[in-house]
Amino acid sequence: MDAQRTLRRQISCVGIGLHSGNKVNLSLKPAAADFGIRFRRTDLGGDHEVPATVHHLAGIQLATGLARNEVTVETVEHLLAALVSMNIDNVLVELNSPEVPIMDGSAAPFIYLIQEAGMKQQAAARKFLKIVRPIAISRGDKRIALYPSDHFKVTYSISYDHPLLRHQSRTLRITEESFVEQVAPARTFTFLKDVEMLRQNGLALGGSLENAIVLGETGVLNNALRFEDEFVRHKILDAVGDLALVGYPVIGHLVAHRAGHALHTEFAAKILEETDAWRLVEVGTDAALPVLMPSGRRAPRLAN
Ligand SMILES: [Zn+2]
Repeated sequence: MDAQRTLRRQISCVGIGLHSGNKVNLSLKPAAADFGIRFRRTDLGGDHEVPATVHHLAGIQLATGLARNEVTVETVEHLLAALVSMNIDNVLVELNSPEVPIMDGSAAPFIYLIQEAGMKQQAAARKFLKIVRPIAISRGDKRIALYPSDHFKVTYSISYDHPLLRHQSRTLRITEESFVEQVAPARTFTFLKDVEMLRQNGLALGGSLENAIVLGETGVLNNALRFEDEFVRHKILDAVGDLALVGYPVIGHLVAHRAGHALHTEFAAKILEETDAWRLVEVGTDAALPVLMPSGRRAPRLAN
C-alpha cells in the first residue's frame, strides 16, 4: 500500500500572474488525508475552496482555469503537475489573486517549494486510477488516448510549421525522479507573432523572456534552451498537470499528438465518464492489484 502524502509544513512564494501581470502570493499548506488538492482565494474573504477536479473546470484559453460559485483560479496546470508528480495528495493552495504565479514558466520553482516544505506520509491509502481498456478522443489531427500499462507513462508528439520544432516526440515514464530532472524545468513557449495579439486581448501582460520561450521566425529570442526538445517536454508537463484533474494518480500510458489544454481537460472529464475503462486500486505498481471498486458501478467520489 502507498500512503497518501501531504506537506510537512506550510511554504509560500511571490510571483506574477502571466496574463494579469499582477503580483501574487502563493502558499501551500498541509491538509488532512482525502482532502485532495484545493485552491482558496484569500483576497475574496470567506473560505470558499475550489477543488482541483474536472467538475470545476472553467475557461480554457491558453491555460487551465477552475471555478466554483464566484471563485476562479487560473493557470493551475504547472503547479498541479509538480504536486502530483511529487506524490502530494492533499494540499491547500492559497492565492491572493486569480492567477497561480507563472514563476519561470516551468514547474521547477514549485518542485523547489515542495522539497523545501518537505513531505509527510499520512495514515490513509493512496488510490490510483488504473486504466483497464483504452480511452481515446480526437479532434481533427489532435489526438489523445490512454492505454493500459503497469506504470504512468506519457508519449507526446508535436508538430509546427517552424524550423525549430517541426516535429518533436518523447516517451517518458513519469516518476518523481524523472519528472524533476527531465520535465519540470521545461518552460512554456509562445510565438513572437502571437505575443502582440495576446497583448491586444489583455493577455500575457506579465509575459517576458523571464517566463517563456519566445520563438521568432528562425530561432528563440531567449539565450538558450534548457533541453534541445524543451517544447515537447513542456507539453508533457502540461498534460500531467491537466490529467491531475481526474482527482487520482493515473496508471496507464497517455499518448497525445498536437493536443493542448482544451483537449487534455476534455479528456480528463471523459475518463471519469467511462467508468468501465478503469478501476480504483491501492497499489501503484504491483501487477496483483486489489480492486477497491468494481468498474462500471458508479463514478468515483470526489471532493466537491
Ligand atoms: Zn504550460
